[in-house]
Amino acid sequence: MQKVEQILTQGRYYKQKFGTKVYKIPISVYGFTCPNIDGTVAKGGCSFCENESFSPNLQDKSKLKLNSNSKTNPYLSRQIKELEEQFLKQKNILSKKFAAKKFIVYFQSFSNTYAPFETLKTLYEKALSFDDVLGLSIGTRTDCINDEILDYLAKLAKTKEISLEYGIQSFYDETLSAINRGHNSANMLKWIKKTKEKNINICLHLIFGLPNETQEMMLKTCKISYDLGIQSVKFHPLYVVKHTLLTNEYKKGKFTPISEEQYIDTLVKALKMMPKNIIVQRISAGIDSTNLLAPMWCKNKHRQMKTLRLALLKEGLNY
Ligand code: SF4
Repeated sequence: MQKVEQILTQGRYYKQKFGTKVYKIPISVYGFTCPNIDGTVAKGGCSFCENESFSPNLQDKSKLKLNSNSKTNPYLSRQIKELEEQFLKQKNILSKKFAAKKFIVYFQSFSNTYAPFETLKTLYEKALSFDDVLGLSIGTRTDCINDEILDYLAKLAKTKEISLEYGIQSFYDETLSAINRGHNSANMLKWIKKTKEKNINICLHLIFGLPNETQEMMLKTCKISYDLGIQSVKFHPLYVVKHTLLTNEYKKGKFTPISEEQYIDTLVKALKMMPKNIIVQRISAGIDSTNLLAPMWCKNKHRQMKTLRLALLKEGLNY
């Protein structure tokens, strides 16, 4: 009989560490953006990102966007209020549905270190002050981090579960350029290493099926990530969503999405070569959006996850 290996999922890790199930509560902070949307490093955002810089219809011109150099933040009280509202609303739902008791606040939308330092401090500390919160996960880019933020987070990490989630996607500069990422692998490597030196947990987001990438390239990106000593990883296939730069490429026949078979094969290989102490937070994002154009095998999140889990099990991997 085939031996089945348990993948260290986020749920299993939390259970081992805290003795209970821990739930991540995603937060979107009003006024936050990223340097690839506001035009600081590129124009239009990443080619797959559905954002207002690409869709003028989505633009709220009255809304000032913060960045790290903003001298003032007129939204701070609103941001604090909404942070609390979003957290309590989701905590309430999770508590009723799953009897959830412990939580991580996940600053998810845009780049959550791309604002004045005092704003970040205030929001992170507010989130940590909520009852039953064990720590923070902070989604960002490596070109939106600096020593001041890292030193501060390193202090928090001594008593709280703190993780920086870096959107990497690929370590190939030609790919980063093709997806209009606005920064390069040297920047990523530099800041991942610095984060690691500060003993802050690192989660990398990787995408399979990026333009012109072979399976060998995708697996090389995984290998580089693992060798950096990261704590966890998130995988998902590249989606073509309406109102993005990638839609144009796709419609012109210049981009072919990854097939389900290719994705599964790459995922299995990526998981088999992964050190067993790395946490796999996600094997696909799943997308139920009506805006999804391709690949259509991702359309139904529930079916997609079922198929992936079964395929992994056949390979002796229990996710
Ligand atoms: S970094 Fe994130 S938020 Fe910014 S354009 Fe890329 S995908 Fe969108």
